[in-house]
Amino acid sequence: MTSATAAARKILTELHELMASRANAQAKLNQMVEIIGAALNSEVCSLYLLREQALELFATRGLNQSAVHVTKLALGEGLTGHIAQQVDTLNLAEAAAHPDFQYRPETGEERFHSFAGVPIIRRERAVGVICVQHVEPRRYDDVEIEALQTVAMVISELISNAELIDQEAVADLSSSSTGPARLSGLTLVKGLALGRAVFHQPRITIEHVVADDIEVERQRVYSAFTKMREQIDDMANQAEFGVDGEHEEILKTYKMFAYDEGWSRRINAAIDSGLTAEAAIERVQQRTRMRMREIDDPLLAERMHDLEDLANRLLRIVSGQLGTAAKLGLRTDTILIARNLGPAELLEYDRRRLKGVILEEGSLTAHVTIVARAMGIPVIGRVSSIRHMVREDDEILLDSDERIVHVRPTEATLTAFESKFNQRKKRQASFAALRDEPAITKDGVPICLMVNAGLRDEVSAVNHSGAEGIGLFRTEFQFLVSATLPRRERQMRLYRDVMDAAGDKPVVFRTVDIGGDKSLPYLRKDTDQEENPAMGWRALRVALDRDGLMKVQARALLEAAAGRTLNVMFPMVAEPWEFDEAKAIFERQCQFLADHKKMLPEKIRYGAMLEVPALAETLDILIPKISFLSIGTNDLTQFLLAADRAHPKLAERYDWLSPAILRFLARIVRNVDGSGIDLTVCGEMGGRRLSALALIGLGINRLSITPAALGPVKAMIRSINLADTKAQMSTLLGMPPEDLRGALRSWARAEGVEID
Ligand code: PEP
Ligand code: MG
Repeated sequence: MTSATAAARKILTELHELMASRANAQAKLNQMVEIIGAALNSEVCSLYLLREQALELFATRGLNQSAVHVTKLALGEGLTGHIAQQVDTLNLAEAAAHPDFQYRPETGEERFHSFAGVPIIRRERAVGVICVQHVEPRRYDDVEIEALQTVAMVISELISNAELIDQEAVADLSSSSTGPARLSGLTLVKGLALGRAVFHQPRITIEHVVADDIEVERQRVYSAFTKMREQIDDMANQAEFGVDGEHEEILKTYKMFAYDEGWSRRINAAIDSGLTAEAAIERVQQRTRMRMREIDDPLLAERMHDLEDLANRLLRIVSGQLGTAAKLGLRTDTILIARNLGPAELLEYDRRRLKGVILEEGSLTAHVTIVARAMGIPVIGRVSSIRHMVREDDEILLDSDERIVHVRPTEATLTAFESKFNQRKKRQASFAALRDEPAITKDGVPICLMVNAGLRDEVSAVNHSGAEGIGLFRTEFQFLVSATLPRRERQMRLYRDVMDAAGDKPVVFRTVDIGGDKSLPYLRKDTDQEENPAMGWRALRVALDRDGLMKVQARALLEAAAGRTLNVMFPMVAEPWEFDEAKAIFERQCQFLADHKKMLPEKIRYGAMLEVPALAETLDILIPKISFLSIGTNDLTQFLLAADRAHPKLAERYDWLSPAILRFLARIVRNVDGSGIDLTVCGEMGGRRLSALALIGLGINRLSITPAALGPVKAMIRSINLADTKAQMSTLLGMPPEDLRGALRSWARAEGVEID
């Protein structure tokens, strides 16, 4: 046993007996400061607790007893206030030399030079301070500080059981203890939201600190380590969207820590000093946090993140509190905080209470982003420090439009937010008022507006939104949110429900676009480790190579559409023969159903997505075979510009309004013109007003967009003159200015087009 362990254990044993005694709370505190002061050879030991927002001297050995319950310090005031506010330890040879030092005459502390104090923490907030003082100027050694920190954990348990601190003040403390903060990130789903912070992986509150039986605690930690290592190994064997959505690199680091003997040894030493398994894990974590704070190295800070994650996991295992926040249920308007999430995990949350999501990682095309967009939940990603800056239950204001997160916002920020929120509502109400108005240009040309969907719940919205149908139903969503491959019956039920909900309006079902970055556990072995997943084995390529998948989906779609029109569309077609093969799979299934006297769809319309540029070269061959063509500008743009659509550093280069993209689209419009097939754009480009204006100016008259964009885009359409817009686009493309986007915007503003 090390000397630190022995010192802490001696104090803990005495405190344990004290806690079990029948003395009243004040008497216990008086004795407590005596025990600690004596054990640390200190003339003074004082205990301050938070009451009515101030740190009040509750017990002291060595200072004037008349100061007890008289001396009060605000947070941040004096050394004690500094410790509580910063939730940090101080160890000073000469207290008066510290800039925050403040002399309180009633305490009689002028004789003492050295000072050490540690925060007493409850729910990650300081609820008090325990400090020791010495006549001689000397720093306390590490062993003593560690013993004091261990003792602070015990005091935390004792005082909360005795209800000596203001529980409400603890809850309110966030704003006064750490103040407001403003963090920035990357907009993944636009919107505004206000709510309380909830961690997807909840932090554990430690209820019992002092061990009754050290052997039992050792055993608990041992089994928890075994279980945690198994979990990490399992996760490493799964892929990207494993249990918790962690990526490979993080898993490697997890693994390194999980098997780190030093970590488990330190936890065992803390148990030896008399702590429970939970308290020992937290104790070691506190010490690591302190050490890391002194080292200013971003790489190490990153690793610290991983260790925090793992310590939290270990705590959850040891305390048996395993569920995510979704399983525990949301109690109030919530801003969810996570390192990363899988789409299925997001869908487990109560949508009425989930107002926004903040991720440390995340990217625009991650499934969780697509699903959140479909759910209408604003998301900000790449907020790397969020889990350090925020505590459970902090008030959070998420302004995804401006890429900003306000943590513990001030009154002024809240007021500004409210007016922005109201403005937004008003705008939305004005868009909603357009619901039954036609999407028609001022010179009388109708534009067909449809919506993109993929979740069952979105479908009913189609009828309320005024859309003319679902122009893109991403069938892979059902696959992504399922742990196993959805069976034919389940697929069929979803498709049928979607068509029922859409009524007379058409629904275009896109066959699954999985593989590459949209990896599924059941296909993982083949799609993992691709160097260029977007250009890899995905979508139709998977479906043709593994035609079992497509056969099942074809049967499900055909059965669901019995007696009605089925619109089916194939993604990532690069060459016409791929379309032929995919269609043949459907036709064989039609034959099968006919042979079995099953009712067939009244009509089947086959279409292709144009998202691989090569297909534009063979449109003359493809067009006679298809009923419609839908341009997937999300993928098409990334392929044409060789700019990854999810790469934040390429965001400027990935530009829908670059002359190359627009000229390419204009060419497709010319090629399709007069052929009689429908031409639609179903990428995100159609959902942004300025780029939608450009598309319409190129002659595109069918857009399938995200439902939230329906109102704004319709308002824009109703404010334009199509002939003028076409003329302007033709001018811009004939001799493209350097800043085509800026030029189009200026023109639109001058013409009174609603684009802002
Ligand atoms: C596209 O690529 O534009 C598209 C609509 O498909 P997804 O975003 O699902 O790849
Ligand atoms: Mg695509």
